[in-house]
Amino acid sequence: MLAGKKAIVTGSTSGIGLAIAQTLAAKGADVVLNSFGDRDEDRAAADEIAGTHGVKAVYVKADMSKPDECRDLVAKAGAALGGVDILVNNAGIQHVASIENFPPERWDAVIAINLSSAFHTMAAALPAMQQAGWGRIVNIASAHGLRASINKSAYVAAKHGVVGLTKVAALENAEAGITCNAVCPGFVLTPLVEKQIEDLMAEKNLDRDTVVRDLMLYKQPTREFATADQIGETVAFLCSDAAAQITGTTLSVDGGWTAQ
Ligand code: NAD
Repeated sequence: MLAGKKAIVTGSTSGIGLAIAQTLAAKGADVVLNSFGDRDEDRAAADEIAGTHGVKAVYVKADMSKPDECRDLVAKAGAALGGVDILVNNAGIQHVASIENFPPERWDAVIAINLSSAFHTMAAALPAMQQAGWGRIVNIASAHGLRASINKSAYVAAKHGVVGLTKVAALENAEAGITCNAVCPGFVLTPLVEKQIEDLMAEKNLDRDTVVRDLMLYKQPTREFATADQIGETVAFLCSDAAAQITGTTLSVDGGWTAQ
């Protein structure tokens, strides 16, 4: 379905980003994996994707908290793959604290990585997509791009910002063959959520099942986590021809959370 397309997935050495990269590769796209580290296992993950799916897969180190590195990632990916047709802004971090206790440097980091990085990568990727007359941008927002929760001020602000940024990019490029959409997952069991489970177990002195059932999945009417693979397939659909007229919108994969 995506044979010959060239994709970047930011923050793709773990969790949802890795599943998105694997899914796009399974559909035939060449992919750039990204994180901020310089680890052999990250290059090995790219090699494994290349070997499994018979596509080109390259790891490019770039710190999504730094504007220059965001833009440089697009340049390096374009050089490595021979262009960029698909940009998936997935890198994200979480910090949980009430507003009055929220460390200002954590606020800045969450806004930089979860929101501003998408602005910088899009700014760098759009000119070539406009010239080609084809492009797909998928921003991984969250149910928290549509709803709020206590103690997640920076994350909720960043994800609402991602949804707004998505709409503007869609409108500015509506006649250019480029779509831009946001996927809004509910809870997905990844390292980011595992840390929240462990923190809540310690803070509230509760067992894991109780934390998952009473403090997390009570928000999701299905009472089930979404899976990273389901997010990957949703992104692949938004990159397909079937989704050519879907732009500037959000697609929730949240077990009914935001239907409430
Ligand atoms: P994760 O912690 O498993 O993975 C995050 C990825 O981002 C990792 O590869 C990490 O290395 C990378 N990353 C972190 N900081 C970076 C930086 N400065 N520069 C480059 N890469 C960086 O998290 P996840 O749960 O897979 O989350 C992925 C995205 O999905 C995030 O944007 C998150 O907000 C969003 N999301 C997650 C859930 C969930 O329940 N897990 C729900 C909704 C939205």
